[in-house]
Amino acid sequence: MQYDLAIIGGGPAGLMAAYNASELGRKVVVLEKNSRLGVKLLITGGGRCNITHNIPDYRTMAESFGKDGRFLLSAFSRFGVIETIAFFESRGLKTKTENDNKVFPVSDSANDVLRILVNGIKDNGGLIKINSEVKDFILAGNKIEKIILTNGQEIFADNFLIATGGLSYPGTGSSGDGYRWLKELGHTIKPLSPALTPILVKEKFVKDLEGLSLENVILNLYCKNKKIATEQGPIIFTAAGLSGPAALNISRHIDFYSAQNFRLEIVLRPGNTPEDVDREILKLISSSNKFLKNSLERMLPPRMIELVLLLSGINQERMANSLSKIERKSLVAIINSLNLNIKSIEGFDRAMITKGGVDLKEVDSKTMRSKIIFNLSLAGEILDLAGPTGGYNLQLSWSTGRIVGESI
Ligand SMILES: Cc1cc2nc3c(=O)[nH]c(=O)nc-3n(C[C@H](O)[C@H](O)[C@H](O)COP(=O)(O)OP(=O)(O)OC[C@H]3O[C@@H](n4cnc5c(N)ncnc54)[C@H](O)[C@@H]3O)c2cc1C
Repeated sequence: MQYDLAIIGGGPAGLMAAYNASELGRKVVVLEKNSRLGVKLLITGGGRCNITHNIPDYRTMAESFGKDGRFLLSAFSRFGVIETIAFFESRGLKTKTENDNKVFPVSDSANDVLRILVNGIKDNGGLIKINSEVKDFILAGNKIEKIILTNGQEIFADNFLIATGGLSYPGTGSSGDGYRWLKELGHTIKPLSPALTPILVKEKFVKDLEGLSLENVILNLYCKNKKIATEQGPIIFTAAGLSGPAALNISRHIDFYSAQNFRLEIVLRPGNTPEDVDREILKLISSSNKFLKNSLERMLPPRMIELVLLLSGINQERMANSLSKIERKSLVAIINSLNLNIKSIEGFDRAMITKGGVDLKEVDSKTMRSKIIFNLSLAGEILDLAGPTGGYNLQLSWSTGRIVGESI
């Protein structure tokens, strides 16, 4: 059997490509090494599957991926957020946009998303082969002639798609095979590291804050005292550092291999100048005959007040109205700039995505075709792109997968 398109990887990118190509009448085979399709897709959004982020303007969506987001302009303009939501809705998946702009199935079930893709591929006549691990590629000139599975079976096709994802959560099937093959085929693989991962800090005091979440802070990231990134949003303290959307997002800018050169600054009262914070403290403590820590409770959660008092060198048992101007100043300084020195970031076993991947310069952004191997396309996380948390990375897979399906 000679297929029009052989897809390696039954994750979001591979399945969307298979859906589209088979719908357009192409002979498609999906090869997935696991005994189930979409193992990672099923754990996305805690099993609820955060399908996309509701940013209808494709340019703004692309900008969310940083400067490399330019690569996605063509794919997002043709199959972006609006088209993705319409794709799933028109196939019976009701969706909802939550307050933070994250889009989920109304059923809160990743299984429903997977079912639509798999049933669609089968209805369109596509073939899905699970327990089919691809081992090798056989070239004829600068074209792939066939692929070989670990069970010895050979698959012949006119076109091939590598959609094997990254290295994060290895238990889902992300073993990095695609990177190895692509390197052997002549592609450049930009350095790989975990991203969207919790941050571990040197300060032991975070242990006392474990489980405390703050709804809205600014995180400033410094590398050797130069500010390199800023994020605003919720964080949650862990036993040894920080997690939550703002922390996960800023982890993309921390070099895994030299994390100790980085420092985080937390601005606990975003949108307030030091003068504003000082005025607020003054208001809370003046003519108050309460303990200082109780007076400040309208400003920060109790555990955080204890920490900022400690770091400002102010005794916890002080009365509010006994605070001097100098002490107030040091309190304001900590509230506006709580510094944490980074020890490391969690590894691939805890990372949502992989940073790095196939050099974008070697891929045609209009078709997702390799510029090195004539009949090879690439889609999804294997590309050197890393979006924020909140549905962006699945959108990357839907859009690039769809473009492959279209361009075959
Ligand atoms: C815990 C967690 C939660 C997440 N939540 C979200 C979320 O809510 N929203 C969001 O946008 N993103 C989320 N992500 C990120 C998202 O899951 C990925 O960006 C997305 O799955 C990438 O899709 P992909 O198709 O490129 O790769 P994958 O989903 O990794 O699929 C690749 C497939 O290729 C198969 N494969 C690998 N090697 C071979 C081989 N040799 N032969 C055959 N098959 C092979 C693998 O088994 C795998 O099934 C989350 C990630 C994690 C880890």
